[in-house]
Amino acid sequence: MLNYTETPITVIKNDLFKSKKLNILVKREDLNHRWVSGNKWWKLKYNLSEARRLGHYTLLTFGGAFSNHIYATAAAAKELGFKSIGIIRGERVLPLNNTLSFAEQSGMKLHFVSREEYRKKTSDEFVDSLRKQFGEFYLIPEGGTNELAIRGCAEFAREKIAATLCDYVCLPVGTGGTIAGIISGLTDDVKVIGFPVLKDNATSYQEIKKQLGNKSHRWQLQTDYHFGGYAKTSPDLKNFIEEMRSLHLPLDPVYTGKMMYGIFDLAKKDFFPPGSTVLAIHTGGLQGNL
Ligand SMILES: *Cc1c(COP(=O)(O)O)cnc(C)c1O
Repeated sequence: MLNYTETPITVIKNDLFKSKKLNILVKREDLNHRWVSGNKWWKLKYNLSEARRLGHYTLLTFGGAFSNHIYATAAAAKELGFKSIGIIRGERVLPLNNTLSFAEQSGMKLHFVSREEYRKKTSDEFVDSLRKQFGEFYLIPEGGTNELAIRGCAEFAREKIAATLCDYVCLPVGTGGTIAGIISGLTDDVKVIGFPVLKDNATSYQEIKKQLGNKSHRWQLQTDYHFGGYAKTSPDLKNFIEEMRSLHLPLDPVYTGKMMYGIFDLAKKDFFPPGSTVLAIHTGGLQGNL
């Protein structure tokens, strides 16, 4: 098992929330592990135990050059004594950025593939060719989303957030795996709001639907806070993140910054009824700031 550190819930105090009579809390799940941080810890948990149960020695996964998932998988593999292979989209650019040099220093073997090849990552043919090249491995999909990841995120919701009385749980959405798990781990009286960071959020929406079936109506996606798409940013977003840093809340520009910006904006627009308690999940990702 990976190390796990219990994480605090902090209150954000400011004039906006005071005037709107809102109680805004942040679950600092980014602090759960030094390297396998935030939602990635929970997405990896059952994948790691399954890999071990099946007797694998090597983990193989996919990601872009700034991927939090690559960073986390490399660190988790090192901690638990697995070998790891990262299939990275694009060319090797030297010097390696912080994410990739950390992964390599953690023992991950980086294998760069062209964008066209990377697109084939889910095909049997491509995976077979990887097996020929690297031998047997336990495969974790891009971003880490699969059924075992969702099981881990549901457990996070049940064990770490369900006991906090709140009306809304907010979190950023990439593939949708984390939010699908969190929705299924919470009871019906909590509304879950996802903030997609991709411009085309149809894929994450379908993924969430697929995981949940039609059984839940108490979640929604707020689709106006992607700032142009994945890893796109704006001066406004950057200023906001700076401002939050001065309030001792470090955020990343890809995921958590967009979510918090969205929460502030929705509060301004009176989206949350007065008296509401909103719990934002800090899903991690601060490694990307380095
Ligand atoms: C990966 C990641 C997400 C997105 O999680 P999904 O399960 O893909 O929706 C959100 N926040 C951070 C910080 C991440 O690293």
